[in-house]
Formats: sequence, structure tokens, C-alpha cells
Amino acid sequence: MVQFSGKSVLVLGLARSGVAVAKLLQRLGARVTVNDASPRDRVDADAKELEARGIRVFTDGHPQELADACDLVVKNPGIPYDRPIVLRALERGVPVITEVEVAFQVTAAPIIGITGSNGKTTTTTLVGRMLHEAGVPATLAGNIGTPLSAVAMDTSADQWLVAELSSFQLQGTVSLRPKIAALLNIYPAHLDYHGTLEKYINAKKRLFANQEPDDIAILNGDQEIVADLASELAAKVWLVSTKRRVSRGAYLLNGKLMLAAAGAQNATPIMDVSEIALRGEHNVQNALFAAAIAFAAGASAQAIADTLREFSGVEHRMEFVRQIAGVSFVNDSKATNPQATIKTISSFVEPIIAILGGLERGDDLSALVPVAAKQLKAVLAIGESGPRMIEMARQAGVPVALQVSSLPEAVQQAAALAESGDIVLLSPAAASWDMFASFEDRGRIFKEAVHML
Ligand code: ADP
Repeated sequence: MVQFSGKSVLVLGLARSGVAVAKLLQRLGARVTVNDASPRDRVDADAKELEARGIRVFTDGHPQELADACDLVVKNPGIPYDRPIVLRALERGVPVITEVEVAFQVTAAPIIGITGSNGKTTTTTLVGRMLHEAGVPATLAGNIGTPLSAVAMDTSADQWLVAELSSFQLQGTVSLRPKIAALLNIYPAHLDYHGTLEKYINAKKRLFANQEPDDIAILNGDQEIVADLASELAAKVWLVSTKRRVSRGAYLLNGKLMLAAAGAQNATPIMDVSEIALRGEHNVQNALFAAAIAFAAGASAQAIADTLREFSGVEHRMEFVRQIAGVSFVNDSKATNPQATIKTISSFVEPIIAILGGLERGDDLSALVPVAAKQLKAVLAIGESGPRMIEMARQAGVPVALQVSSLPEAVQQAAALAESGDIVLLSPAAASWDMFASFEDRGRIFKEAVHML
């Protein structure tokens, strides 16, 4: 446990989590300096808020000298470890952690940690609703909205702190010990940041690193790369499977969602899988994970089933927007990598006109080819990776593939091409930052364009 009082702490990166952790550190008695590389006018409101509390804020670059005058660096998860200012701190032997580590050190609450390449927000949201429905006290935070350090100190020992955690956040943790930890899946994502798949998996594994035998680790039993971790973990392992019976965890059997907390002989059927309101096979996996997590945290089977019957989705994830002349418009802006888009396309049986493309990260698009060949009748490509999306569509033999200059134009072209029974789908398979402020911004612009039709 790090003592923060009296320490000189450098917070790298403003944003919501940087602001929250700077305030928390100050409350803990640290001397806080904040540095964000953005031009001052882009971050002025956040900077002013901190300066009003006597926190020094440097903008417009990362002056390396700041790394010479601190005892600890709290790094925004998005800043790579190879930035000169970070390297300088590491060379001096200064610990570099993420905001969530500070939060975990100061909270009295037991933690539920949820990570994975895809499905985190959906699963975390489901868990929150299930616990709420069951009357089990819980606070949701992390990648999902409120930064953990904004709530950590005020979340008491009698409620769960449910944290959605990205690999970037996990990489900067030291003492994290969730009572319940879940790893949904691992797809080769974010390799531009982590370098190799092994390093990416190592970051995810930090979730389990400090767990002890009375803690629970919930793993994807259908993905070898995840299930194989079981032998390395100190915690009790539960598995989630859509394909086979497991001795502890959640699984499907004859179309029923089953929960087994104490061995397969005591498994309880929760509901028919067809009653789950969310669409798509990947959401069955998310539902099983959420059920296992909530059950382990004390929710009743009834509350779990009621939630799954009622909850139909999170904004920007396969979100139905509107139907016009038999054409459905679906916003899946959160699909920021090819795997997510593949799952979404495969969830539909209807012909799809897809809007694809965004930030170019060099992702391998070959896995998109077979689903595109099967289901796409047109591709409208936007953004930096648009040309490679068109190339992919040509390989798949998609009849129409066009690059367009803006998202509203893509919506108009898609609407012109669509016939009754088709789906117009924004599921870009890429991050948004080449043309938009965020995936939420991209989703909202899509929805506005659809409502203008
Ligand atoms: P995350 O928070 O991990 O980005 P979300 O719950 O926001 O995940 O879902 C983002 C997208 O990822 C969805 O729109 C869907 O296309 C895809 N997805 C969701 N759950 C899964 C899953 N369990 N396996 C694979 N893909 C998924």
C-alpha cells in the first residue's frame, strides 16, 4: 500500500479520470501536479477547476523535467509507456500506476472487476441492474462512466464496487484484489499499444494477480486462451460456457441458462435462453457472465432472470434507432474492432448495408471477409481505414463498396440503396478518433442523420 500523504505526485493526462484522481490525491494529502499534452484551450475547463484548488496544471506538451521532481506518476491509461516523460520516470525508479490503482488502495468496498476485449460495458451494466433488482448494494464505476477514483473513498465496506476495467487500466495496477474477477474473452485488440498478444494477456492477468483462495475468478470456458489460465490462478475458478456443462459457473443446457455455484449436481435452471431480451450469441455469453457474477455477489436467481428478460441494451451497442419503409437502422458505434463487428453482423439474419471504417490501427481484416460475403449487400466506407474496408469488401464479393466523405453522407447513400427488410448498420470495426471526438459522438451523429432522413 502506497502512502500518498506528503508525496509529490505527477498526474499525466487530464480527462475525467485525471481530474478525479488529482482531487482524490489532494484529499489524501499529496502534492499534486497535473500535465496534459493538449493545447490549453482544449482542456481549459478541467485545468481551471483544478487550479482553483491549488493544483498546478501544465499543458501544451509533456516537459520531461516534471518527471524529475515527483515520487509517483499516475498515468492516464491511454498514454503509452514509451513516451519520453514516462520513460524518464521509470528510469529514475519512480512507480508509474493508473488512476484505478489509487482508487483500489483507498476503497473499503469489496471489488468486482470485469475485463475482456469485448462485452465489458454490456456485462457490467447487466451486473449492476441484477444487483439493484436483488436489493444488493453496489456502485458501478471505471471504464463505464464515473471514474473509480471519484467514488472509491465514499463507497463503504457494505456495498460492492463494480469496476469495468480495460487492459490499459489493468497494466498500471499493483495491489488490485477483486473478490470476484471476470475475464470475458481475449481477442487480438489494442496490439498497437501493448505490442504483442502476450503482453496484452499479461495486462489482463493483472486482474487475478493478488486474488486468494476465497476469491472467485470467472473465465470464458469456450476460449482456450482464457480457460487455460485456470491452472495459474490462486482463486476459485468458475467457468462460463455456451457449449458445455461446467462444474462451477454458468452454462447453457437444452436451451436453459444454468447456474452452478456449488458443483454441477446442484445446478439451477434460471430461464429459457430465448427469453433473454438482448440479441445475438455474444450477448448470451455476456448474460451468462453477468448471471454468474451477480449470483456470486448475492443476487437471487429471480432477480437475475427478471433483469435478463427486461434489459434490451446499452446505447451505441446494437441499438435500434428507427425503421423507415421497412428498413431498420442500427447504431453499433461501439464496435471499435473487427471482432465486435463480426459478432454484430452475425447476430442478424437480414441483409445488411454496413458503414465501416475509422481510425487506422492496422488491424487484420481477414476474419471479416466470410461474414461480409455471407451478409453484406453494400459497404459504405468512412475514415482512415475506409480504403482497406473497401478492399476487404471486394475480396468478399460484396456487390457495392464505396468510400464516402462523411458519416451523414454514408447514411444517405445507405438509405438510398436499402430495400424493405434490410438493415443499415453502423458497426465500424475501428476506433472513432480519426473523424470524431469519441464513439459516442460518432453514434449520435449517426442517429441524427437517421432522424433527418
Ligand atoms: P466493451 O465495453 O468491451 O467495448 P460492449 O459491451 O460495449 O463491450 O460491446 C461492444 C461491442 O462488442 C458490441 O456492440 C458487440 O459488437 C461486441 N461484443 C459485445 N459482447 C461481446 C462478446 N461477449 N464477444 C464478442 N463480441 C462482443
